[in-house]
Amino acid sequence: MSSIDDLPPLREVIATHGLAAKKSLGQNFLLDLNLTAKIARLAGDLTAADVLEIGPGPGGLTRGLLAEGARKVRAIEKDPRCMPALAEIADAYPGRLQAIQGDALDVDPLAYLQPPIKVAANLPYNVGTELLVRWLTPPMWPPFWQSLTLMFQREVAQRIVATPGSKAYGRLALLAQWRTDAQIVMELPPEAFSPPPKVNSAVVHLTALPAPRFAADAAVLNRVVAAAFNQRRKMLRSALKSVSPDIEQHLMEAGIKPTERAEQVGLEAFCALARSLEQDS
Ligand code: SAM
Repeated sequence: MSSIDDLPPLREVIATHGLAAKKSLGQNFLLDLNLTAKIARLAGDLTAADVLEIGPGPGGLTRGLLAEGARKVRAIEKDPRCMPALAEIADAYPGRLQAIQGDALDVDPLAYLQPPIKVAANLPYNVGTELLVRWLTPPMWPPFWQSLTLMFQREVAQRIVATPGSKAYGRLALLAQWRTDAQIVMELPPEAFSPPPKVNSAVVHLTALPAPRFAADAAVLNRVVAAAFNQRRKMLRSALKSVSPDIEQHLMEAGIKPTERAEQVGLEAFCALARSLEQDS
């Protein structure tokens, strides 16, 4: 069967460069190039976009992104051992891959890339959630990216797309859904990775909305949602007491029953509450 490129199979790359997976870096590699090409396609048409990839490792997804036609890829990898393998990919795609060694939480994501920019990553889950929250929040908002295609632990993916009434619903769902369209586009069992992680995984695709779904001041919305979900089992009239002495009135103005709990309240109603509180301040 023909491969997506003329580079060696990933198992060989890992053996040649001594890339035994390190737990401390959350290394669970994707070795099936058909699968990495499929994940690259979930990011949409890449031929008119530059791509920021975080955590390329031995480069399976990187190869998928380049083979699917990404104009340029900037790949930020913390593990110096991966750099020679990434240099081989750069040689096979002249002028299209810039691999940087560094921590994605510190490195400027943007040098080298031109908009429109898509982000793709199979990252350790803790780093992934931290980066997602950063990419959705000022000063990183308005976004430098058009879409994010990110692998998460399935439970985290479910928290991003959750709707009211479910246990997974909370701050992450509200933040993500206020500013993006977010969907789970693929689920992967542990065996898809080497070594297999303990949990199932899922790819989430988020597309930036041109404007937030409902009007609200970001800081007020964030404060209300944080207070509401910090005490998610309490009725909102007591969970939000610290936010305003007139909270019952604001809740009613926003069409929310003061006896409701945070997990029953949708994004639109939280935004209405934030607007009511802002008018008063
Ligand atoms: N993308 C590769 C794949 O799909 O096979 C590797 C995925 S592995 C789950 C996560 C990768 O992120 C590893 O190569 C790891 O070294 C890298 N990594 C971990 N923490 C990082 C950080 N803070 N910044 C950049 N890369 C990081």
